[in-house]
Amino acid sequence: MTNITALSERARTGFAARFDGASATGVWQAPGRVNLIGEHTDYNDGFVFPFAIDRSTVVALAPRADRTVRVTSAFSDEIVTVELDAISPDSLSDWSAYPLGVVWALGEFGANLATATGFDAFIDSDVPIGAGLSSSAAIECAVAVALNDIWALEFSRETLAKVGQLAENKAVGAPTGIMDQSASLLGKKDAAVFLDCRSLDAEVIDLGFEAAGLVLLVMNTRVSHAHATGGYAARRASCERGAAEMGASSLRDLDVDDLPRATELLDDETLRRVRHILTENRRVLDTVRTLRLEGPTAIGDLLVASHVSMRDDFEISVPELDLAVDTALASGAIGARMTGGGFGGAAIALVRSADLQTVSDAVTRAFADAAFTEPELFTVTAADGASRVE
Ligand code: ADP
Ligand code: MG
Repeated sequence: MTNITALSERARTGFAARFDGASATGVWQAPGRVNLIGEHTDYNDGFVFPFAIDRSTVVALAPRADRTVRVTSAFSDEIVTVELDAISPDSLSDWSAYPLGVVWALGEFGANLATATGFDAFIDSDVPIGAGLSSSAAIECAVAVALNDIWALEFSRETLAKVGQLAENKAVGAPTGIMDQSASLLGKKDAAVFLDCRSLDAEVIDLGFEAAGLVLLVMNTRVSHAHATGGYAARRASCERGAAEMGASSLRDLDVDDLPRATELLDDETLRRVRHILTENRRVLDTVRTLRLEGPTAIGDLLVASHVSMRDDFEISVPELDLAVDTALASGAIGARMTGGGFGGAAIALVRSADLQTVSDAVTRAFADAAFTEPELFTVTAADGASRVE
């Protein structure tokens, strides 16, 4: 779990070290997220059910008198220096496209960058990078809330989520949906965010894991994914093609009752992509309802069905993720699934506290037996969304 005070202190120290002993004006944090269920449904205008986790990205920041922007990170030795007027999606690359893309995107949403002051920023994080826990949304949202304060923009959290997504889509070039930023900004302690990605209506729903004696185990396979270059864009294109061939503007306009017609109209691969989205939307609704009526112990089968659908129909799992899920289930987990965009990253398992050690040991052993890289295992709790730390 993040000790936010310690992380914040580390960011202040890092800021001073990189910027000639200067002190930061403030520190802001934004959490990573786990998606409990609802994968690849966000860009299909569907339903998602993620929660913000107790691991964050922090940004220590100080405004400058001029119009220069300097960003640096604990994960990079470089200090990227750019003038505010020169920031555009085409001019950005590598990791700094995330924070600088947010600067540009704030302008697209109405911030007056022509009069804004420059700033220095140092970024640190304890969200594993490239693990499917959305370190990308965490860095975007931390920078977005910091600049929202410093520039007195008074943008709503919903707008800041769109700012983060725009940065990721246009400055980074990853065609991701709105889920990750929504979780990072709207998350609440011990609750998950039930988001309708079409209306953007969000409802915060208690998870009740602790009261039910459950913990959420993250199993980071350390297989790194890359959304901008990986199969993510191909999956998105398949979904758009499937919707068009079904005469729908988006897959949200269809549901599981349309599957017989989809079977007639679509080629096998497109059908399987579409079937994942339609059944996954249904599973999100079922998970929310089951959680309310029966509590978290009853959602395990839905998590498992979601994984099977991603493995067989959407084909975004990898052997490491399947092994983590299968081993967790075989050693006592209530439910398990890969989480995030896929092609690597992490799986989650919902586990009774008493079984945590057994499940963890079994997964570690199974990875060793398969000669896979040792997985990183840790529990997470649902946490509040982005905020100013100090
Ligand atoms: P995920 O969101 O699953 O962690 P992504 O590939 O979407 O993976 O985003 C990871 C990328 O985000 C990194 O490769 C890096 O470019 C950028 N990034 C995330 N956190 C930081 C950070 N603290 N400092 C610098 N860059 C970061
Ligand atoms: Mg990401």
